[in-house]
Amino acid sequence: MKKFFTIFVLALLLAARIGGRALADTPTPTETQTETPAPLAGKTVVIDAGHGYNDSREVYYGGSYSWPGAAQYIEANRVLALAEETKRLLEEQGATVILTRETRAMVGSYARMCMMNTIALQFLRAQTVNPPAELLAELEYLTNILRGIIDEYDPVTDNNGPGAELYFDTPYDNTLKRKAHPDMKRIFDHSRKVKDLIFISIHTNATTASPTQTNGTVTYYMDNKFNKNYYSSYREKENARLANLLLQYVSTQTGLSNTGKNAVNDYFMIRELNVPAALIEVGFHTNWGDHRIMTDPAFSRKFAQGVLLAVLEFYNP
Ligand SMILES: [Zn+2]
Repeated sequence: MKKFFTIFVLALLLAARIGGRALADTPTPTETQTETPAPLAGKTVVIDAGHGYNDSREVYYGGSYSWPGAAQYIEANRVLALAEETKRLLEEQGATVILTRETRAMVGSYARMCMMNTIALQFLRAQTVNPPAELLAELEYLTNILRGIIDEYDPVTDNNGPGAELYFDTPYDNTLKRKAHPDMKRIFDHSRKVKDLIFISIHTNATTASPTQTNGTVTYYMDNKFNKNYYSSYREKENARLANLLLQYVSTQTGLSNTGKNAVNDYFMIRELNVPAALIEVGFHTNWGDHRIMTDPAFSRKFAQGVLLAVLEFYNP
C-alpha cells in the first residue's frame, strides 16, 4: 500500500500543479511571439501499464508465457517498458504524463480507477474559474470516497475492501444489468467537462493455447449502447477516435498487423471513468510473428512513436 500510495500522492500533486499552472501561466502576447509552445503543452496523458508483480505471492498477474523455442514473455514487464518509453516521447512534445504503475509491483484495478477519477476531479476543480463552494464540497466528498477505496486495498493479498464492490462494477460482470452507483455517476458526469486529460491502458494479447495463428493490434473503447444500463453518457466520440488513432498509428509504426478491430467493450479500465479513454492490446504475445516483433529491442520506441502520433492527431485533428 505504501509504495502505491506514494505514487498516488505524487500523481495528485502533479495534477494539482498542472491545473494551477494552466490557469496561472497563460502566456502574455510577448511570450507567444517569441516562443512556440510544444505541441502537447498543457495536455496530460495517464498511461496505465496493465498487471504487475505481487511480491508476497511471487507471481506476475497477467501471466508469463513461453513455449518451446520462444523466449519467456512477461506481459506486466513488457507493458511497463512500453509505458515508460511512451512517457518519454510524449514528454518531449510537452505533455505531462502520469503512470498508474511505475515499478513492476502490482497496482489493483480499483486503485488505478480511483487514481484516474481523483485526477479527473482535480482537473475539474483547477479548470473551473471561481468554483462555487457547493462544487468544492461536492468534489471533496467524491474524492474522499475514492481515497477510502484506495485505503482499503491490500496489495499484499490484492484484496479490496467493501467500498470497491459498492462503488464500482466488478471487472468481470457480463450481465450488463447493473447501474452505476449514484456517486460514481456523479463523478462520470463531472468528468464529461474535464479538458486536456486522456487515459490509455496498455496490454498485450494472449490466447489460452499458444502458439496461435491469431495476431495483430486491437483497441477497445466504451460507447453508450454496449452497457447502457450502467451509464450512458460516456464521451463515446472521443473514445472511438482515440482508440481508432491508436489502432492505426501503432500498427503502422510497429509493423504489427492492423486487424481493423477497434471494438466496443465494457472492460473495467475503460468503463469506470469518463475522460477520453482507450485500451490497446498491442499484439498477441502467444503468436510467433507478434512475439518476435514485440521482443525486438527497437519495439518500445516504435510503439511509443505510434502512441505519440495518435495523441498528436487526437489533440490536433
Ligand atoms: Zn493484459
